[in-house]
Amino acid sequence: MTAAPDTAAPDAIDPDVERWASLRRRDPAADGRFVYAVRSTGVYCRPSCAARSPRPENVVFYTSNAEAEQAGFRPCKRCRPDGPSQSVRRAEAVAAACRLIEEAEEVPHLEELAAAAGMSPHHFHRIFKQVTGVTPRAYVQAHRAARVVDVLQQAGSVTEAIYEAGYGSSGRFYESAGGRLGMTPTSYRKGGVGETIRFAVGVCSLGSILVAATERGVCAILLGDDPDMLLRDLQERFSRAELIGGDADFEATVAQVVGFVEAPGMGLGLPLDIGGTAFQQRVWQALRAIPAGRTASYAEIADAIGEPAAVRAVARACGANPLAVAIPCHRVVRSDGGLSGYRWGVERKRDLLDRERREAVQ
Ligand SMILES: [Zn+2]
Repeated sequence: MTAAPDTAAPDAIDPDVERWASLRRRDPAADGRFVYAVRSTGVYCRPSCAARSPRPENVVFYTSNAEAEQAGFRPCKRCRPDGPSQSVRRAEAVAAACRLIEEAEEVPHLEELAAAAGMSPHHFHRIFKQVTGVTPRAYVQAHRAARVVDVLQQAGSVTEAIYEAGYGSSGRFYESAGGRLGMTPTSYRKGGVGETIRFAVGVCSLGSILVAATERGVCAILLGDDPDMLLRDLQERFSRAELIGGDADFEATVAQVVGFVEAPGMGLGLPLDIGGTAFQQRVWQALRAIPAGRTASYAEIADAIGEPAAVRAVARACGANPLAVAIPCHRVVRSDGGLSGYRWGVERKRDLLDRERREAVQ
């Protein structure tokens, strides 16, 4: 046995009641606010650590890793308080699952995806939904439907497109493509004619924010200084749809989007209605695979979609993104790490990246 580490910290005398409660709940929201060290093992942990609860008399609280280490404690190998946070590790596991889905010849089962992520199917399903806003099944279907969008834009008729994309019966296509496109294939071909879009303008820490949604999901999140400019932007993007101001019900959606913009790492628990060309959709899909707290270069995104020469087209697709933060084009930077441009202002890009980095190191 080695000597017990020094435990002469003020918290040892008066253990914080709130910290104890967080520790007992294994509350991931408390991660980053403090760590606890266990005198009997010489190890310090995040509040969310899944290890057996320590005896109260053995616990010392510290506000930082450095303090715990100075007092002679080692980081726990299980909860890795010195490594990426649980939310970052989860985002990485989900991003890896998305890649599995995209690369698989045959659609992988939930059990396979969960096993690859090292989680139970139930847990994986919950985490995937939390991070992406959609279920693994919906993501698989969306990926398949992306091919239909591709064919729809060239094909002579909707029926032709359905058969060319490999769907046996048109009934099944309408079922799954409706959820993906946010409108039926016929209205998609007409550029959204007959679609009704609700919208509202609010305020967030980044300035004005316009949130718009079809009945299928959020179709635009626009950021700026001037609400009128945001509305004009919306009108240009959806020139053939009917735009109506959001009612009281819609406020809840706006509130949820604003909450998400303030803490992107938490994920947006709302379905998205993503339009755009087939190429834009592929770029945007790749952007959504970059976890919060990370960045990628335009060239890396071009590689990721299998078009290494299309770096400029990738940059244009980032600029055309209608869903600020939800499609995280702010996580794309120059190859040398420089911020480059941002459709909604480079200052907002810097703010977003800063806050995601802060969330990630907790
Ligand atoms: Zn631990």
